[in-house]
Amino acid sequence: MSVSSRQCYIHCMKTLNSRLKDTRLWIFDADDTLWESGLYFRRAEEDFTALLHSLGFDPVEIGIEIRRRDIERLSLTGYGARPYLATLRLILEERYDLLTPYMVDSFDYISNCLLHHPLVLLPGVLDSLNRLFTAGKRMIVYTMGEENHQIDKFNRSGISEYFEYCTVVPMKTENTMKELLSSAGVAPSEACMIGNSPRSDINPAIGCGVNALYVKRQFTWQAEQTEFAEPGLVATVAGLPDILPLAGLL
Ligand SMILES: [Mg+2]
Repeated sequence: MSVSSRQCYIHCMKTLNSRLKDTRLWIFDADDTLWESGLYFRRAEEDFTALLHSLGFDPVEIGIEIRRRDIERLSLTGYGARPYLATLRLILEERYDLLTPYMVDSFDYISNCLLHHPLVLLPGVLDSLNRLFTAGKRMIVYTMGEENHQIDKFNRSGISEYFEYCTVVPMKTENTMKELLSSAGVAPSEACMIGNSPRSDINPAIGCGVNALYVKRQFTWQAEQTEFAEPGLVATVAGLPDILPLAGLL
């Protein structure tokens, strides 16, 4: 990091520390912020593509079709594993009038792996949440997708005790964020949103005056990638341990 970049970084962090010192509510995204999620979608896509490849279809073309139709169906079905699997199933069924037992069994296995994937926390999550909780920080989980599936993961995570509650919405918008703040009884400037999605976590938060910490992951689902609406208002962290000094700990 050059001297000027370092000075800019220090200035940004001081500004951020100043903004975050009044934070009364820490709002955490769940998938790919607290625990692995996209990893299992990628595995399902790889397995499905391999299945179609075994049936004679071009895996590159199948991959392109999956990603195109995945984006197209979002406005109709919303987020979640079951709508995603429904898209894959449709791609298979459109190619055959009747599925063979091999196709049905393989697809069922791919579905079960995605719907019942292990709940694996991201590095540093457990210790960081424990320290925030012990320090008396008020924390909630704010996630999107199918309510049953998300609540099941929350209950299996082993970290539910650290949060006041987990709320699930079909899609994150500025309106759902405002409703969240209203029900929690905090002003936008008193809240901080922590998440891995520029589209769903960061932009709706800064759009209504909530501080935002972007958790950068190696892979981000294409539908969640977009430019930050106001880059100057977003701080990027590598994981939850980076939040501790911003929360006045360490
Ligand atoms: Mg996420």
